[in-house]
Order: sequence, then structure tokens, then C-alpha cells
Amino acid sequence: MSRPITLRINEIFFSIQGETSRIGLPTVFIRLTGCPLRCGYCDSEYAFYGGNTQNLTDILQQVASYGAHYITVTGGEPLAQKRCLDLLAALCDAGYSVSLETSGALAIDAVDPRVSRIMDIKTPGSGELAKMRWENLDDLRSTDELKFVLVDEADYVWAKTLLQEKNLTQRCPVVFSPVWETLPPRDLANWVVRDVLPVRMQVQLHKILWGDGPGR
Ligand code: SF4
Repeated sequence: MSRPITLRINEIFFSIQGETSRIGLPTVFIRLTGCPLRCGYCDSEYAFYGGNTQNLTDILQQVASYGAHYITVTGGEPLAQKRCLDLLAALCDAGYSVSLETSGALAIDAVDPRVSRIMDIKTPGSGELAKMRWENLDDLRSTDELKFVLVDEADYVWAKTLLQEKNLTQRCPVVFSPVWETLPPRDLANWVVRDVLPVRMQVQLHKILWGDGPGR
């Protein structure tokens, strides 16, 4: 008899998606415990540890109880748990529109192709640039998105250069987002306009709505 599929879950909650092209959509968030990175600006350190082990059937039941269409699997770094792949496929099979928020440090090629992968590119300012798995860029599809979280102007210049060198906007949509209460959003907006960058400049809607806590 096969063993049940289990995952370490930090929290499951229903809120408004605060980022990416799905911004504003009522979304169920499944936050998986654990992350191998330690970005200097991390706002979800509480997800590094704790949570509880749940089986896939129970997770799907909780998600269904909200009656929502959009699901985001996040962390931590969800792909650090290998059963995350089973969870993503099961959510797609159940008919949800699914996105995955991932750090860019782990392989994304085994993720179900029905999932929209929102992949960070870690900048020098994050402190975790060395962990980037650059091969992931070759696996991107037009339904995925790249996200740069920018600490300062040096990060912006670095991201702009990479954008051009690697033709990133030809692969999928790209989001530039300022670190909350660190890089003034207006500065970033002015730089994007000045340089006519084909990126989506974005502030985190959930932070505006609910402040610097968990995304709700
Ligand atoms: S990858 Fe995400 S969860 Fe992990 S340390 Fe960086 S910001 Fe935090």
C-alpha cells in the first residue's frame, strides 16, 4: 500500500493576491514551511520553521471550503518539499487556477505545466544572489513571471542590465517591486519611466491593505 502524500504546512488562508498579474484576485494561499535561503528583506521568516504535517486529502478539503478559483502555493520556498509537486498537480486536477511563488534557487522544470510559476531573481541586495539557479531561465514559459525585489538603486541598475543581457522580457512578463519601507516606490517608478523599461512596476497591495504582517 502506498504511503499517503504529506506536506509540512505553515498556514492556509484566504485573502487578496497582492502581487504579479494576479494582483487583486481573491486567492487561497497555501504556505509551506521551510526555506534554504535567508534574504535580508524576508517578510515571512515565521515560515522557516513550525507548522504541521498534513496529508494531501485534508489540504484539498481545506482549500475547497473557501470556494475560491485562484490558489497560490508559497512559502518559505515551497519547492524545498518534494511533495510540493504532487500538491500542485492535484490542485490543477481539481480545476483551480494555480500559481507557485518560488525563489529561483531550486529547479522548476518538474512543476506541472498548468501552474504559473512566479520566480524571483535574487539580486545582490537580497544577499542570496549566489543561490540563484540560472538554468531555470531556460525552462520559463510565457505563462510564468519573473519577479525582482529591489533594495536600492544599485539593485535596480543590476536588474536592468540583466534584463537586457538575457532578454528576459522575451521569455515572460517581468515584475519590479521595491522592498517595503526600504526603497521608496516613487523612486522605482521614476527610474522605470526614465529608462522606458518593459516591466511591470508593482507595490505589494497586501502591505498597503494590512501592513507588514502576514499577507492578509
Ligand atoms: S526566498 Fe523568500 S521565504 Fe526564503 S528567505 Fe528569501 S524572501 Fe524569505
